[in-house]
This record gives sequence, structure tokens and C-alpha cells, in this order.
Amino acid sequence: LGLGRNISGMLKDKLPSHLYEFLKIAGAVADEFKFGAYLVGGCVRDILRGEENLDIDIVIEGDAIAFAKKLGEEIGAKVTTHERFGTAQVIKKDFKLDIATARTEYYESPAALPKVEMSSIKKDLYRRDFTINTLAVKLNKKDFGLLIDFFGGQRDLKDKVIRVLHNLSFIEDPTRAFRAIRFSERFGFKLTRHTENLIRSAIRMNIFEKLSGTRLYDELMLTFDETNPVKALKRLGDYELLKVIHPKISFSPELESLLQSVHDTITWFELLFLNEKYDKGMLYIMALLYKLNKEEREVALNRLSVTSRLKNKILNGLNAAKNILRGLKPDNPIEIYHMLEGHDIEFILFSMALTNDSEKKKAISHFLVKLRGIRPELKGDDLKALGISPGPEYSRIFKKILDEKLINRLHTKDEEIEFVKKLTKNLL
Ligand code: ATP
Repeated sequence: LGLGRNISGMLKDKLPSHLYEFLKIAGAVADEFKFGAYLVGGCVRDILRGEENLDIDIVIEGDAIAFAKKLGEEIGAKVTTHERFGTAQVIKKDFKLDIATARTEYYESPAALPKVEMSSIKKDLYRRDFTINTLAVKLNKKDFGLLIDFFGGQRDLKDKVIRVLHNLSFIEDPTRAFRAIRFSERFGFKLTRHTENLIRSAIRMNIFEKLSGTRLYDELMLTFDETNPVKALKRLGDYELLKVIHPKISFSPELESLLQSVHDTITWFELLFLNEKYDKGMLYIMALLYKLNKEEREVALNRLSVTSRLKNKILNGLNAAKNILRGLKPDNPIEIYHMLEGHDIEFILFSMALTNDSEKKKAISHFLVKLRGIRPELKGDDLKALGISPGPEYSRIFKKILDEKLINRLHTKDEEIEFVKKLTKNLL
């Protein structure tokens, strides 16, 4: 029942060898406790798709925390536990194993008979979202690598479809509709007609009203992280799921081109500034809210339960971007600099995405790539050494140096000194 082929060879191929060895050790440790141990979730799905996925999730039929502590000892790893959830993490330098206890309702007798073990992992897998996420691999020594497929996950992987396990799936957890679309876009899989109908009927039943703002926000953030978020958002729009954020949001060609522009801007920015911290999600949210008026934007942000700090930032950013674009003089580096300097990076990037004026786009990119990094080389001490006494005069001088540098008229420290000397002579 649900037992399939042995895929230990695939595990060995697709996982780094040390990780594969840890899975074998995990199986041996589970044997000592007489617990069933299974590799589950995205990792199994992706290995069968021929892809690497190093997010290792293990389900234990038994006490996951006791198991994790012992495994941690065996492999010299750090263990963190969450007693309340019966979960633990085993953490080494370059990876982490998530370990959870399978639900134990099925343990009718204390003795762990094979049938009872199976029903426990089966019950755990039945609570999952889609068939392709219900595949498990047994880790215990005797059956190491045995693929377990209770719900037709292999067939659906082969047919490239996303299918829920039962009719109440979206009612139980509406975020699954968002997950369905994400997986479908990511893998190029189709939702089965039945699954699609269940989403539509959940929408008709207003199930999404009950979805909390935080969970909705988190799902959107995960969608923005996909390789092709614009297509995923279009799909959400097709299902009218963007209206969960605000009834006035619809996926118009205009919204599509703004979202695409945000995506392109982000791709460009991340390529150039790999390590710069910023809030990517905020840019997509700004695009989604762009066409709404002020009150509607507030309603939408309240629906998403964002902090009042983020809410204000987004509201301000939408206005700032408009003002920036209105005031930007693309051919004057000094004006570009002073127009953009001091604004949050998200506002600047959103302005860049928002404008269709290629000169303004170029000006903003010039600011980000070059102008914003320009600083006078002289410091206060240097001015003092030139005989200028500290005071408000300093910031005026620094601004003058900076402006000269912005238009490429000063390059070296010596040139700055000469410039200051001339400047003070004229001022005297
Ligand atoms: P990803 O590559 O996006 O991380 P994943 O399948 O690993 O894909 P996670 O969100 O990490 O996704 O979830 C891990 C597993 O937990 C999933 O494979 C799925 O079985 C289960 N799961 C996650 N969220 C839900 C949910 N809302 N309802 C049911 N099962 C879920």
C-alpha cells in the first residue's frame, strides 16, 4: 500500500554525499528508538523531478525531539527544539535538517506495529497541500530509500499537475490557493480541473475573507520571490485572488507593465548590488496599489496587516515617487543627486520602474551606479589644516566640493584642496 520503488540511488546522485550519509545515520538512529523516519516534502518532490533541493524535512513516527537530540550527538550538530510543536532543527555549518513528529492519533496501542506506523505517516501526509508534496522516502535501515506514495504523487509529477488531496482543502487553508499557483508557475504544472473548481468555489464562498492579513502578506512575499512573479500575479489575477487584497485591484495591462517594470528594475539592481539590503516586496506592493486612491491604499494595507511603520512608508513612497519623477531634471547631475539623495532606496527604485521616460530612467540609474557614492575626500580636519575655523561654513564648503565632483570637475584630494583655497580666497 503506497509502497513503491527504492530511490536510494537517486538520493545518492542528487544530494551532496555528506547529506546522504546523514540521512543514513538518521535512519539508524530512528531504528535505535524503534521510530519510523521519513524524508518528506519539497526535497523528495524535487529529487524525483531531477532537481536539487537541500531543504531537508524529516518526519518521525515518535518523539522527534528525542530523535533530534540523539542525531545531533551522533553527527556533532547543534540542535534547537520547539517542544510545543514537537519539532526540532539539527544544524551544521552548511545545512539544516527540519525534524517533526508525525501526528500520533493513529497510535492505538503503545506497541508500534508496522500497520500503525504506516498509518501515522499516512495521516501526516494526508494533511499536506498537494499530491506532489505527499511523497516520502523511508530512512530506516531495512527500507532505506523506499519511496512511499499514498496519494498518487508520482503519477501527478509525471502528468505535471497540481491536485489537492480532498474537497475541503482550500476551506481548511485558503493559502493553498496561492501555493497552488506558485507551484504551477514554478514547475510549469497545470492545476487539475477539479482543483481549479475548488478554488473558484472557495472564492464564491468568500473563504478568503477569513485569511489573515499576515498570512496573505507572507504568501504574496513568497510569490514575489518566484523566478517569474509577474506571471504568477497574472494567474492570481485570473482567479480574482488579487481582489483579496483590495476589490479594486485587477490585473490590467497597465498593472502588468508596471509589475514587469518593477521586476526588471529589481533584476537589474540585484545584479549590480548583490549585497545591498532593501525590501523587494515593498516595490511589488507599491505597484499593486499604485492605481488606488489614498483611502483605498490604506484599506488595502490594513487588509495586509502590515505594521504602521511599513504602511506609512509605502504610502509616502507612492507619493515620493511621483514627486521625484515630476521634479527630476535628467541632464543635470547636481540636480539629480539632490533630488534623489536622502530618499529610501525602495522609493528610488520604484520611481525608476514607474517612469517610461528613458532619460529619467537613465538619470536614476546614473545616481544609483555612480552619483550616490561620490563623497568629498577632504574631512573636517583637512579644512582646519587649511586654516578655516569649524562652523556652519564647513557644510557649505563640502556641498560645493561635492557638486564640483558630481559634474566631474574635481578628481583628486589635491584638486579639492586647491578648490577650497580658491573658494575661501573669493569668500574673504
Ligand atoms: P518550496 O520549494 O516552496 O520551499 P516546499 O514544498 O518545500 O516548497 P514549504 O512551504 O517549505 O514548501 O513546505 C514544506 C511542506 O509542508 C510542503 O511540501 C507541504 O507538504 C507542506 N505544506 C506547507 N504549507 C502547507 C499548507 N498550507 N497546507 C498543507 N501543507 C503544507
